[in-house]
Amino acid sequence: MQMGYWSNPDSAPAVTLDEVPPACWAPAPTSSMIADEDLGVAVPCSHCGRQYDVALFPFGRTISCTCGHRVGIEPRVRSAERSGHERFLADAMLARLAKWLRLFGLDCDHRPQSSDAELVRLAVTDDRILLTRDRGLAEEWWIPNIYLVKAEDLRQQLVEVIRHFDLASSVRVLSRCTKCNHIVSRAAPADVSGRVPPRILETHDVFWECRECGRVYWEGSHAARIRALAETLVAAAT
Ligand SMILES: [Zn+2]
Ligand SMILES: [Zn+2]
Repeated sequence: MQMGYWSNPDSAPAVTLDEVPPACWAPAPTSSMIADEDLGVAVPCSHCGRQYDVALFPFGRTISCTCGHRVGIEPRVRSAERSGHERFLADAMLARLAKWLRLFGLDCDHRPQSSDAELVRLAVTDDRILLTRDRGLAEEWWIPNIYLVKAEDLRQQLVEVIRHFDLASSVRVLSRCTKCNHIVSRAAPADVSGRVPPRILETHDVFWECRECGRVYWEGSHAARIRALAETLVAAAT
C-alpha cells in the first residue's frame, strides 16, 4: 500500500491535459502533434506579464489581473460563415426576444435559471449563439459564440438579430413551440380532442402539437397579426 502519497508535493501527479476542460477555440491535441500553445500552463497578462494557470480559463472565461487588465486566452475567430441557420440561446433578460424568435420559427433555447457560466458552457457545447444584453458577460467570457444585442426595443431586437445573422429566409412563422422550442407537427382534430376547448375543436380542422411538451396549437385570431409582423420585420431587416 502506498503511504503518504500527498506528503511530498513533488510526488503529486501532474495535471494532465485530460483534466483541462475542453475549450472551443482549441482542437483536442493529438499525441503526435502538440503545439506549444496547447501545452501552455501559463497565460500571461498582455499588460504586465504576470502569468496565470491555464486551468483558470475554461470555456473562454477571463479574469481580472492585479494590474487591472483582463486576462484570458484569445478566442480563435469563428470559422463558420454565417449560414442563416444559426441556433440561439437567450439569457434571462431576453425572454421576450426568445419567445418571438420561436414564434418566427427560429431555434432559440432559453434557460432563465442558468448562471452565466452554465449559459456559456451550453452555448459552446450545443453550438449556439448566446444572445445577451449584458456587456459584462461578453467582457468576462471570450468566446466567439456571444452576441451582444444592441437594441432595447423588442421589434428592433428582432430586426437586429434577423439582419445580423441573415435569417430572413429561415423565418417560418408558427412552426415552433413557444414553450419549449421544439418544431410542432400537424395533428388531426381527433388527435387533440380533450386537449383543446370543445368550441375550438368544432371550429378548426387544423391543429399542431408539440410532441416534446404536449402543447396544442391552432390558428387563433393572433396568427394573422403575427404573420404580418414577421413580414414587416423581415422586410426591415433585408
Ligand atoms: Zn496584468
Ligand atoms: Zn413544446
